[in-house]
Amino acid sequence: MASATSSKKMREEANCSICLNLMTNPVSIDCGHSYCHSCIMEFLKKSSCNQLMLKVFYCPQCRAPFHTDSLRPNKQLGNLIEAIKEMDHEKSCEEHGEPLQLFCEDEGQLICWRCERTPKHKDHTTALVEDVCQDYKEKLQKSVTNLKKLEEECIDMKVSTALQITEWKEKIQIQRQKIHSDFKTLHSFLHDEEKFYLWKLEQEEEQTLKRLRAQEADLEQKSHEIKSYILELEEKCQGSAQNLLEDVKDTLSRSWAVKLETPEVFSLELHTTCNVSELYFDVKKMLRSYQVLVSQPTLSTMRERSIAQ
Ligand SMILES: [Zn+2]
Ligand SMILES: [Zn+2]
Ligand SMILES: [Zn+2]
Ligand SMILES: [Zn+2]
Repeated sequence: MASATSSKKMREEANCSICLNLMTNPVSIDCGHSYCHSCIMEFLKKSSCNQLMLKVFYCPQCRAPFHTDSLRPNKQLGNLIEAIKEMDHEKSCEEHGEPLQLFCEDEGQLICWRCERTPKHKDHTTALVEDVCQDYKEKLQKSVTNLKKLEEECIDMKVSTALQITEWKEKIQIQRQKIHSDFKTLHSFLHDEEKFYLWKLEQEEEQTLKRLRAQEADLEQKSHEIKSYILELEEKCQGSAQNLLEDVKDTLSRSWAVKLETPEVFSLELHTTCNVSELYFDVKKMLRSYQVLVSQPTLSTMRERSIAQ
């Protein structure tokens, strides 16, 4: 395990002395120094014509001469630099600055080798990150499998809920149509009832009117008869004595015989009455016979209740 200072030293060694960054595609020259491939090529281009002709250059670090043919890619250094870059990505302990290469099972946290030696982690089970990583990876994958199963179940439930929504809407639509048609029947029933009552009332009107009109006509005739007697008697009174006394006894007995019969007494009581509350009762019976099952109180039952109160 590398300490903070040793890793800093390692980084310095892996830096290119031309660009001062970690080398990319490092190449070595005769003296043993290495540079980025692009940095050394740039350096060669900038060298004097004489040097270019002779193909002999001097190391920017130690001034030792080198030939361009001696440039060799340094694969091992390249790999080392890759490892350093990876280490840079790894988190280090905030307290000790060391790489977090251990895992404390008791606390479930990443620790460094120095943390492991503190009293806090005494008697704790620790393991190398690489060793426990696979185990936890499997655990995480198991959890993913479980969650995927739950996700599938959730999708299935959503589908079935969507089906329920459709089913419910269809059910409501059927019920809506049923209510419409039930009320259409009810309206036509009530309309027929109204027509029936009006027809009955008209019948009753005609019957009584017929008798009253007959009586009216009789009385009219009687009134004419009486009027003609009055005229006859008045004429007799105003006429001559001979005229007055002629058939006077007969005239008197006929005039006294005139009688006015008391007209028949008609009851003007109406027989056609529409008992609305009874009608509602009939409607209720009718609805029952139609097997209307409306859970909400219908208009008629509501009215029935208000009438009953
Ligand atoms: Zn460089
Ligand atoms: Zn050198
Ligand atoms: Zn630590
Ligand atoms: Zn611990």
